[in-house]
Amino acid sequence: MIGRIHSFETFGTVDGPGIRFVVFMQGCNFRCKFCHNPDTWFKEGGKEYTEEEIINEINKYRVYYDKSKGGLTVSGGEPLLQIDFLIELFKLAKKNNISTALDTAGDIDMESSMCLKKIDELLKYTDLALLDIKEIDEKKHINLTGKSNKNTIKFAEYLNKKNIQTIIRYVYVKGINDSEETINGLRLIKSNMKNILEIDVLGYHKMGEYKWKELGLNNEFINITPPTSNEVKEIKKYLNSKISN
Ligand code: SF4
Repeated sequence: MIGRIHSFETFGTVDGPGIRFVVFMQGCNFRCKFCHNPDTWFKEGGKEYTEEEIINEINKYRVYYDKSKGGLTVSGGEPLLQIDFLIELFKLAKKNNISTALDTAGDIDMESSMCLKKIDELLKYTDLALLDIKEIDEKKHINLTGKSNKNTIKFAEYLNKKNIQTIIRYVYVKGINDSEETINGLRLIKSNMKNILEIDVLGYHKMGEYKWKELGLNNEFINITPPTSNEVKEIKKYLNSKISN
């Protein structure tokens, strides 16, 4: 099968445990104002690869992934937009004893029996989910990303039902998505779902700003100040702290 890939990273250290081969898929249905990869948005870009070609690439560096208990992470863009390819890629990865992680915003229609069937198939070969939750308030989520978060929350519940180990990923944009409602909402999700290992916090940064410029996109976050590493550390600590009864 053919997948449309934006790029690869052979020594990824921030997208799951250990050293990882990260596949950035082309195409995204969100338009996050803080996105540092807007060049992944458009379906038409990227390059075509088969699942065999990707596994062959991974096998070149296998020793590093195996020794560090790492593996393959598929990120984006939004990988679920190419779910049929993803199923084949993860299936082949598992055949090759490669650990798999899916980094997604989970925007898939769980009410559709066809989607559910595909998700069930994909989860059979998924060792870890990295689920991006960007905001708890739906209206603010639409404003921040262009889409509702209803599917994301339903997807989180489904991962819990299926007992798939999950790390929640939250991009912290100071003054934008750090309301009490969002912070406490994320803590509540973690405390209610036993499959969640932790909430990882990625501080908003400006490294993708030049891409917005190159693509001629209107960057509304041009004047937003990134959080300091201490602020990121503090909020991560709080998000992962136990809720007392
Ligand atoms: S979901 Fe990820 S790739 Fe898509 S717009 Fe948001 S940050 Fe960018």
